Amino acid sequence: MSDWQQRFDRRIMRSMGMPLAKLVRGEGARVWDDAGNEYLDFLAGIAVNSLGHAHPVFVEAVSRQAATLAHVSNYFMTEPALELAERLVRLAGAGDQGRVWFGNSGAEANEAAFKLARLNNSGGARTRVLALVDAFHGRTMGSLALTGKPHMRQAFEPLPGGVEHLPSTIQALEANLDDAVAALFVEPIKGEAGVVELPEGYLEAARELTHRHGALLIVDEVQTGAGRTGEWFAYQHAGITPDAIAVAKGIGGGFPIGGIVTFGHASELYSKGQHGSTFGGNPLATAVANAVLGEIERAGLVDNAAVRGAQLRDRVLGLGSPLVTGVRGRGLLLGVALAEPVAQQVSDAALANGLIVNAANDATIRMAPPLIIGDAELDEFDERFARALDSVAATL
Ligand SMILES: *Cc1c(COP(=O)(O)O)cnc(C)c1O
Repeated sequence: MSDWQQRFDRRIMRSMGMPLAKLVRGEGARVWDDAGNEYLDFLAGIAVNSLGHAHPVFVEAVSRQAATLAHVSNYFMTEPALELAERLVRLAGAGDQGRVWFGNSGAEANEAAFKLARLNNSGGARTRVLALVDAFHGRTMGSLALTGKPHMRQAFEPLPGGVEHLPSTIQALEANLDDAVAALFVEPIKGEAGVVELPEGYLEAARELTHRHGALLIVDEVQTGAGRTGEWFAYQHAGITPDAIAVAKGIGGGFPIGGIVTFGHASELYSKGQHGSTFGGNPLATAVANAVLGEIERAGLVDNAAVRGAQLRDRVLGLGSPLVTGVRGRGLLLGVALAEPVAQQVSDAALANGLIVNAANDATIRMAPPLIIGDAELDEFDERFARALDSVAATL
């Protein structure tokens, strides 16, 4: 082991495996490790670095706000928090009744949404919460209760109760929605499960059935939000209006922030004293998110995600590798389906060839590059990914 690996092994909690490299610097869609090796970053900190690394707008916002006012507590309000709440309501299309709650991560956003679901109880009559098999909602006890991955949950049970996991089919919705359901949680593209899309018409059916039974439709946009899929939020592709969305990852561009946006009557469920967060909505995080989302708007990066995503898909398929059987996903959240369970080998080979992607499961490579990528990055991706695929194919 190298020196940093030994230090990691000695002092960092064993909840994570050994990291792939020690990074020291980033710029645009590139990062460098401590040995000076350069990598094309097509993971972007798992769909977080929307503007890439060290973007001048990000740097300026962090610096300016840190030098002005960084944190005040929830006893005081600041202009960046108000502006971000108004911006998120506008981008989500939540209209006149839209409201926002701020936390610091995706898991916290889903905790707030879970508590929102409990508040939709119709005097105790709604005891059920529905979520989807294989969906990921976070690692805290509440968000883990929503997460449909038994191997993540097992060691931590009992988890908060009442959550049932359904297969992602419209039939399962029809069979399970009733007047005892408080909320249905949906991950619109299951990122951690391997970039798996919902069936055609699923969100529309979910909206119709939750409406009919008075259940909340809560969409987890933590990975899909902030323009990544070619709309500001993935539910917008389906033209539906949810009752709440959870956001985090890409909206801060690398600065920790999360939250929920509520729509319609869901905006009135929380009352004074029922939820809070010390750091949530602080002026530093909200100023940075405003700057990041403002730059995504100004530079047309939602459209860029759609256009570059389609090009990236074509490039992957155009490589003609016998290992690649298809590409799933939308915009710049894509999963390359492999013919063999060699995703880890491909991801390792990519890294060795100067490309960061990740193995979302045994047979899927996930790509979530920064929204700023252009022709140069696509050309380089092509070359490096082709080499990685060829080197793994040669061993089979
Ligand atoms: C990453 C992720 C989360 C958890 O976010 P954290 O910031 O890691 O707590 C929740 N839901 C989805 C869909 C995610 O991709």
